[in-house]
Amino acid sequence: MQVYRFHREERDAAGRLQQQEVEQFMPGDFQAETEFEDWVNDRGNEMKRKMAQGWLNEQGESLMPSGCPRCGQGKLESRDVRSRTIRYTFGEVMFRRRRFECKKCGASVYPLDEKLGVEKKGG
Ligand SMILES: [Zn+2]
Repeated sequence: MQVYRFHREERDAAGRLQQQEVEQFMPGDFQAETEFEDWVNDRGNEMKRKMAQGWLNEQGESLMPSGCPRCGQGKLESRDVRSRTIRYTFGEVMFRRRRFECKKCGASVYPLDEKLGVEKKGG
């Protein structure tokens, strides 16, 4: 049961985890010590995903671009907010970050992606 739960939650985006389910599932009836350790690790990873998501969302909204990385000349305009998922050792984290567009060459710029040093994804 523990193994199944762990894998299922690993696939879930952190934001979609059911808080009620977590609160209802309390430790106390484990058959083996390893089951308890799995449970603690699982809860720890869930907390890490939520911490990471909170920071990423905050940065993704507040970071401003320094300039167009393609032409270096165009004025950058805020366009919209798009989501992205990054896989960490503690699981996948989905977050939102603002997208800017160069008025001269049309390049899309994600200041948070640049700060994180992650590969470009999509337009
Ligand atoms: Zn440009």
